[in-house]
Formats: sequence, structure tokens, C-alpha cells
Amino acid sequence: MSNKYAIKAQNVGKIYGEGASAVTALGDVSIDIRQGEFFTLLGPSGCGKTTLLRCIAGFETPTSGKILLSGRDITYTPPNQRPVNTVFQSYALFPHLTVSENVGFGLKMQGKSRAEIDAATKRVLALVKLSDFADRLPQQMSGGQQQRVALARALAPAPEVLLLDEPLSALDLKLRKEMQSELKRLQVETGITFIFVTHDQEEALTMSDRIGVMSAGQLLQVGTPREIYNHPVNRFVADFIGETNFLPGHVQDGKVRIGSGDQFEVVLGDKTGAVTLAIRPEQIAIGAPGSGLAAKVVETTYLGTDTHYTVALSDDSRLIVRVQSNMGAALEIGDALDVVIDAQAVQVLEA
Ligand code: ATP
Repeated sequence: MSNKYAIKAQNVGKIYGEGASAVTALGDVSIDIRQGEFFTLLGPSGCGKTTLLRCIAGFETPTSGKILLSGRDITYTPPNQRPVNTVFQSYALFPHLTVSENVGFGLKMQGKSRAEIDAATKRVLALVKLSDFADRLPQQMSGGQQQRVALARALAPAPEVLLLDEPLSALDLKLRKEMQSELKRLQVETGITFIFVTHDQEEALTMSDRIGVMSAGQLLQVGTPREIYNHPVNRFVADFIGETNFLPGHVQDGKVRIGSGDQFEVVLGDKTGAVTLAIRPEQIAIGAPGSGLAAKVVETTYLGTDTHYTVALSDDSRLIVRVQSNMGAALEIGDALDVVIDAQAVQVLEA
């Protein structure tokens, strides 16, 4: 991956409609996406991620701000004049054209020669492992195969940037997992910058070099999956990515005191006064009596390799603890135990 930027969004805002019916889809978003990276825009429905993607594709014009591609201002460049292609959730293949005709369609429209179209079609069908399917019609293929045809079609003109708008959401879980590694492989093999939109945090964590987390038209945090998971900037990000326990606390003498009266030495940064502690279920262990905070099991959920225990502390605040099911005897509702929190891993957020 290079340090050069493929796409730069500078203070991009997008308002749909006017007056009382105006909707601010993007507030003021600035983002740098590097050449050759797998970048994911992640956020709940309605947060503006598709709008940002459509501004990069050229299907929408920002109300304010600029979009640059490799240093060139493309804010007002028509979509077909941008070296950018999009893969949508619906494959939108032409039903009466064969796989290779579908894949070559865009190149034909661009007026490329027969030889160029054939060579590109062969190359991308091999990339998506569909060389043997060139003469089939779309309806003779599975959903996963059709999505790979749509991918091949988008890759055929060798775009600088490939935009993917929730392309896996129509597939069942097993196929989606397969396509996740397939997409990652394609991105690495082609070296093309991928900008992927999803509301699925697991998808984002497994595939991306970096993730941009969005909420309500704003970009809240940009970072590697590890940075975002281990150091969320606020409660929204901590809650959206993975499972998190939140405990209210109060900073006192360089430590945090929680409702049960227990105190922790955590990494405080510049936080003072009321705070919220974000604690991942796997950062809590079950310890011997007297080793941690006294708690009682109130719920157990067996998940195969892991078991989740919801425990109540002495002030009745609840924590979810994740343990490997084969570690020690299973606990029952009502059992008393001590929980040991890995204080150094605890994130201290605004209250
Ligand atoms: P989803 O995952 O549901 O597609 P999203 O994060 O991609 O959501 P956007 O589609 O970008 O969100 O929408 C952001 C906001 O802008 C939403 O409130 C949406 O209702 C609104 N919006 C999107 N397109 C239009 C439009 N053409 N006209 C008016 N409002 C729109």
C-alpha cells in the first residue's frame, strides 16, 4: 500500500431537498483514502455512507466541499469520466446477455476493440474464477456467482478505485463469508483501491485495512480494525464495534471509582470527573474468591466455543463476561464469583 492518496474528501456536505423538508445526509466529512487500500465506511442505516460513496462515484454532487482523485478535483466530473466503478447490492446483470457479454459490456460502450474486450474479459473472469462460465446466462448461475460476474464487470475497465455498496448483503451467511475472503484476495491481487460500504461490523473488521465509522452524517473515527476495536473514541464507536460493557465511574485521585465502590487504576488520559468505562467481555476473567470484584451470575448463554455470563456486581450493575467453554466448570445462575477486570485494557470515555 502506498502513502499516496487515491481519494480525498474535503469538508464534503450533502443536503437533500430544501427548506423544511431538507435532510442533511453528510455534515462536514473529510477523509483521505490511500492508494491500494481496502477502506470500509461503516455505520448504521441512514448515517450517510451510501451518500458519500455516491459523491465519490459522481452519482451525487456534494452541496459543499470537494472530492479529489489522485490530486485532481473531480467534484463535478460526470461518473463515466471518472476512473471509478461501482458494484451494487443488486447485481443488475443483463439477463439476455452471457456472462462474458455482461462483463465486456462497459468496454464495448467505451468503443474498445474486440481484441481488447476479449483480453480484458478473459483476465477478469480468471480473477473471479469464472473462466468456465463465460457462455452461461445469469439465471443459470447462483447468487454468489452472479455477484462475482458483477465484480468482474466492474473490474474489466481496470478502474483506479472500486466502490462496493453493501455487495454481500443479499447472500446467505456461508456464501458471504466466502465472498469476504474472495474480495480481500481480489483487492490484494489487483492492487486497486477498494471503498466498501457496510453496516456489518464483523465484515468491516475482517476485510479492511482501515475503517471509517460514521454516524448521523459525521465521520467519528478512522483507523485500523485493531485501533477502532481497542481504542474507540466514544461510546457510539465502542457500542457499534463488537460487544462492550459500559460502567459509569468517577475519577478520583488518579483512579476511577465505580458504583460498587471499587477503584481501578486505568489509563485516564486527560479525563476528570464523571466518565464511562468501556470494557470488552473478553477483558474480564473469572478469578478466585478475593481476587477481584464480588459478583453473582444472573444469566448464562452457551455459544459453543464461548460462554457468556451476565454477572451482577454488589450495586447490581451488570457486566457480560466471555469465557472459553472448556475452561473450568460451567457456572449456574446464582453462583457467586469474583470478576477480574484487565484495568489497562479498559477504555475511559466521556460520561
Ligand atoms: P443505508 O445503509 O440504509 O443505505 P446509509 O448510511 O447509506 O444508509 P444514506 O443512504 O447515505 O445512508 O442516507 C443518509 C440520509 O439521507 C438518510 O436520512 C436518507 O433518508 C437521506 N437520503 C438519502 N438519499 C436521499 C434522497 N435522494 N433524497 C432525500 N433524502 C435522502
